[in-house]
Amino acid sequence: MKRPFLAVLLVLGALAGLRADDTFTPIDTADCDVVVVGAGTAGVCAAVQAARAGMETILIESGFQPGGNATTGGVHFPGCFHAWQKQIIAGIGWEWVLGAIDLGGGTLPDPMLVPGKQHWRHQIALNGAAYSAFGEELCLKAGVRLRYFESPYKVEAVPEDSDLAGEHEGARWRMVSISQGEPREIFCRCLIDCTGNGRLSYLAGARLDHEEATQPGSLLYRINTGIDPDKIDMELVKKRFDEAVASGRLLKEDAQYGIEGFIRQPVNSYVAAADSSTGQTRTDTDIRGRQAMLRMLRFVRTLPGGENATIAEMSAETGVRESYRVHCLYTITADDYTAGKVWDDSLAYGFYPIDLHRLGRWIDQRHLDEGVVPTIPLRALIPEGVDYLLVAGRCLGSDRLANSGLRVQATCMATGQAAGAAAAEAIRQKVSPAQVDVEKVKALLREHGAIVP
Ligand SMILES: Cc1cc2nc3c(=O)[nH]c(=O)nc-3n(C[C@H](O)[C@H](O)[C@H](O)COP(=O)(O)OP(=O)(O)OC[C@H]3O[C@@H](n4cnc5c(N)ncnc54)[C@H](O)[C@@H]3O)c2cc1C
Repeated sequence: MKRPFLAVLLVLGALAGLRADDTFTPIDTADCDVVVVGAGTAGVCAAVQAARAGMETILIESGFQPGGNATTGGVHFPGCFHAWQKQIIAGIGWEWVLGAIDLGGGTLPDPMLVPGKQHWRHQIALNGAAYSAFGEELCLKAGVRLRYFESPYKVEAVPEDSDLAGEHEGARWRMVSISQGEPREIFCRCLIDCTGNGRLSYLAGARLDHEEATQPGSLLYRINTGIDPDKIDMELVKKRFDEAVASGRLLKEDAQYGIEGFIRQPVNSYVAAADSSTGQTRTDTDIRGRQAMLRMLRFVRTLPGGENATIAEMSAETGVRESYRVHCLYTITADDYTAGKVWDDSLAYGFYPIDLHRLGRWIDQRHLDEGVVPTIPLRALIPEGVDYLLVAGRCLGSDRLANSGLRVQATCMATGQAAGAAAAEAIRQKVSPAQVDVEKVKALLREHGAIVP
């Protein structure tokens, strides 16, 4: 469309009391009960739970497959489903993991293993392709309508008892999404934000929490260096690395765990201020990740034995640890987390040390005392001031330190399933999630295999 013509349309639209986005016509309109945005570990479990509870469910994802950080980001090693010799997370997430193992191999950790400070021994190395494909099949079998390559553009509340609500089966929300440049319209009764960054909640009017400095992300890859780490002169490597950093040819964080660690395991680079919340920040984050990998490859080629180094593999996206969290009715604090606080509306367990990554320093890790298992209450899944909206996964209501432990995949899966169940029960009971009968949500979760505190 030529610009002057567009300008005329916008002016005419403004004169007619229309906003710019009302001047285009959606290619289709859908009615459903629940819309989940973000098909990561939380979103898949939320959508499958809502659909299995009988809700017409649409799952919208801006990428091309389920799993988010876990698959597209290459982090296909979920943990921890067990704590202190007991399983604490099961349900849909566990079914997903077992299915991925069946299709792609992998070994379950010994459940009797007491993690202590070795929580990684409870992580399960999955095949990324099987993780993605089985997650998709879980959705399809539950009747979830999957829509990849799509993002919400505009989200507005539909007033109760309005004509629009009457025409669309009691809808509470109208969402306009953009699918490869084409606008689509959806009316639904409840929204679930599983974007990992609170983007849907923001569009729906919720407040987001954000830190001045966020944790770095990581691009996961593997370089075939051709170097034997036990034979190379490590002092020479360190000297060359320091020179490259001083001259600006490398960033120190390009070698995530230091250059010696990199030569032993050439698999990842930190990406400062990685942010997945908008298309532009995702673009910048991914470019900076891939540039870091190329810098390291070229550096390795300057080392004795590394002249023919090549890239062996690379994740499709830079993994993002932290961006925005949704400000919810309750913010889980680090004290709540480390005390293993249980609320009357606790719907899920989570388990991981507080685990804050910082550039230039080793990870700030604080381990949980023996026997402590943190829990997540419904009130931390309900954005403050916005009805008929839930949030799950990495961006749920928590302070920074609590979030650094809650963000792991098993916990994201458990909170996703909890949000799916809360949405389904709220719709059944014809109330908002904040008013739902929590005992019925717990019963629904147990019926679908979840472990409820
Ligand atoms: C480098 C790294 C290492 C990690 N290591 C581990 C580990 O060892 N074990 C572990 O369990 N966890 C680990 N984690 C944490 C864990 O992988 C993530 O926190 C978790 O997967 C987050 O899940 P999620 O569903 O909340 O969000 P995400 O996985 O971020 O999924 C969100 C989804 O929403 C989509 N989306 C975002 N915005 C929009 C939008 N506007 N419209 C449509 N779709 C949108 C995204 O494309 C994505 O698919 C690691 C994370 C990183 C970055």
